[in-house]
Amino acid sequence: MFIDHNYITDLLDEASRASSQEIAEVLEKARQHKGLSHRDVAILLQIDSEDQVRELFQVADDIKKSIYGNRVVVFAPLYVSNFCVNNCTYCGYQRKNNIVRRKLTFDEIREEVRLLTRMGHKRIALEAGEDPVNCDIDYILKAIETIYNAENSFGKIRRINVNIAATSVENYRKLKEAQIGTYILFQETYHRPTYEKVHPNSVKGDYEYHTFAFDRAMEAGLDDVGGGVLFGLADPKFEVMALMLHNEHLEQKFGVGFHTISVPRIKKAEGMDISNFPHLVSDEMFKRVIAIIRLAVPFTGIILSTREAPELRREALKYGVSQISAGSCTGVGGYKESEQGVSTAQFDVADHRTPSEILKELIKDGHIPSYCTACYRQGRTGDRFMSLAKSGQIQNVCGPNALVTLMEYILDYGDQELSDLGEQLIVNETAKIKRNDIQGWVLNSISKLKSGERDLYL
Ligand code: SAM
Repeated sequence: MFIDHNYITDLLDEASRASSQEIAEVLEKARQHKGLSHRDVAILLQIDSEDQVRELFQVADDIKKSIYGNRVVVFAPLYVSNFCVNNCTYCGYQRKNNIVRRKLTFDEIREEVRLLTRMGHKRIALEAGEDPVNCDIDYILKAIETIYNAENSFGKIRRINVNIAATSVENYRKLKEAQIGTYILFQETYHRPTYEKVHPNSVKGDYEYHTFAFDRAMEAGLDDVGGGVLFGLADPKFEVMALMLHNEHLEQKFGVGFHTISVPRIKKAEGMDISNFPHLVSDEMFKRVIAIIRLAVPFTGIILSTREAPELRREALKYGVSQISAGSCTGVGGYKESEQGVSTAQFDVADHRTPSEILKELIKDGHIPSYCTACYRQGRTGDRFMSLAKSGQIQNVCGPNALVTLMEYILDYGDQELSDLGEQLIVNETAKIKRNDIQGWVLNSISKLKSGERDLYL
């Protein structure tokens, strides 16, 4: 097993004695964009001087800007089923909760897609509880097919990332054939005793099966996998170390680590009392966690959801977050329900703004909101994506695609304020593009968009 508890706690203990010189050396290494070993990460996790924390944030900001530029990818979750056989003590969908259980019909899925595309979304994360009988793999596959085919007057969903329970190689192969984007699975906690405690009498309670899920997914050919931890279940320092060891394990075995890392923090939900969770992570520690992950794996996307409040999301974007959800509902049929003023959410969200409001703030803060979904459509996945990212060449496609998809959003969904803000940003950013052919491609694509063409990518 690649997660060794004693090894992690010993490393953290040793790192607590690191000198400020050693800390400074790790920060310097990070500045070179080479990534960090898990030993380096242990040292950063033990920083306690305010000056070094400030420097950590500064390096994270520099790395974010130089590797990702100022793009921020925008997406939304789509909950298709809340049937669940598990008893995850933190989750609103846990089996013991007496809530209305249902899965969407395919017509209802088309309706949710209509509401999501009406907000301008192109990229979703499909979410479901675990129930092999009521929500089997065939249902998930049919849901994916329905979503990809659900074209309506507002547009269509172009990339479906999938966040469903750990499953078999055979089922992962089926997801691969269904052309999903990233397969996302949160470890919840890497700390085995805690894992077993928070998943009592549950299929999900099998720590080994869950922890090796990405090995099976990669064996099945799903080469973009997204990990994550539910912060608040166990010691965050332990979790970050384990995330790094998991990433190294995947790199060693399959040549590519996490495509993305999600950083959900536990929120209030039906049937659970948040005060029963002794490891809740403060805002300050949470920001450090994000910054350290950014330094450690500079080419891995970091995803932050609407679980977090607008102010924190705004700050976290500086320290390394590269993808955010917007306008999210976390209930089955949630987009329809929110129109009707009812809710059956899996957990509370804290950012209730519409995508358009979020986009305006992003632009005012100097970010380029991106609805790009080109990579997996063009076969840039797994180690192909990572080698392009590491050589810096990815900038030649991501930046221009972000500008073009932002223009597409403005034309199709923007109000006057967004048009004014966004078009100015696009003009400024296009002028900064150094390669003439790429600048020409952006200008040409914008005029194609204005004459009605869609779906343009490098
Ligand atoms: N059923 C799948 C599984 O077991 O992996 C999909 C997971 S669920 C739809 C998505 C994620 O929501 C979970 O992995 C968990 O981390 C997160 N979640 C559950 N309860 C939460 C809560 N109270 N606050 C924040 N996030 C929560």
